[in-house]
Amino acid sequence: MSAVWVDDEIIDKKKERKIELESQKLEKRLCRNVGQAIVDFNMIEEGDKVMVCVSGGKDSYAMLDILLKMQQRAPIHFDLIAVNLDQKQPGFPEHILPDYLKKLGVPFHIENQDTYSIVKRVIPEGKTMCSLCSRLRRGILYRVAEELGATKIALGHHRDDMLQTFFLNMFFGGRLKGMPPKLVSDSGKHIVIRPMAYVNEKDIVRWAAQQQFPIIPCTLCGSQQNLQRVQVGNMLREWQTKYPGRIENMFSALQNVVPSHLMDGSKFDFKNLKATGIADPEGDKAFDAEEFPTASFSTSMPSLQVVSL
Ligand code: SF4
Repeated sequence: MSAVWVDDEIIDKKKERKIELESQKLEKRLCRNVGQAIVDFNMIEEGDKVMVCVSGGKDSYAMLDILLKMQQRAPIHFDLIAVNLDQKQPGFPEHILPDYLKKLGVPFHIENQDTYSIVKRVIPEGKTMCSLCSRLRRGILYRVAEELGATKIALGHHRDDMLQTFFLNMFFGGRLKGMPPKLVSDSGKHIVIRPMAYVNEKDIVRWAAQQQFPIIPCTLCGSQQNLQRVQVGNMLREWQTKYPGRIENMFSALQNVVPSHLMDGSKFDFKNLKATGIADPEGDKAFDAEEFPTASFSTSMPSLQVVSL
């Protein structure tokens, strides 16, 4: 009897150790990905005051958490201030974020603005409110950034958000346009950064569960999520399961753009293109079919058909 008990105890300890190791690995990966994005796009510089937009969702909690860790380790000095906009949705648990931020010991500001009533008044019943809601939120957050003297505004979008936006723009907007890791705001006054640009959503979900972030759902207002975004999200998740590596390849593609092999005359001067007479082994062969490394497929993939034309 006691031997069984001891065995169980050993198994529990082993399990605990495994969970701890996995958590350490995940934390390392998150910090590495965020650090790499910060360096690659020069997101944060000496003396910056970064306004970290915290909505109460998993992504922004994770961003704040990782940025606080990076702040401890970074070779430069920068300040962080967490900002939440309380939009007065009915049932918004207004104590959760201040309590959490106080416990963290991070400077924070809660901006109270009843955008919910405006959105409700303007958008007809049954229509999705998210676009007006986020437009109002954006304007308020820009103003708050100015008042706080923030030099950067950090948003919690991650790699999968960026890919989704890329496909949404292509499928529904007819544009090759993604979600940049760093940009100047439409007001021209702010630098917006996305330090989670290299982080995949799965890691954030696991980290949020491990850290037990007090998640506040965005849909408190009763608005439905954008259906097109949901569709594209599902498509990407399905691809990821069926064709491992495809998401990573697509994400790399966003960083390897070849304007001469697209069709935008404003990005490449096709009209005035002239033969140089200089051979280039790396140049376009034009007649040869492109070759790609063999993809790895999961066993659930339907069999491929080769079609001769
Ligand atoms: S779900 Fe509600 S609170 Fe969230 S963006 Fe849409 S309208 Fe705004």
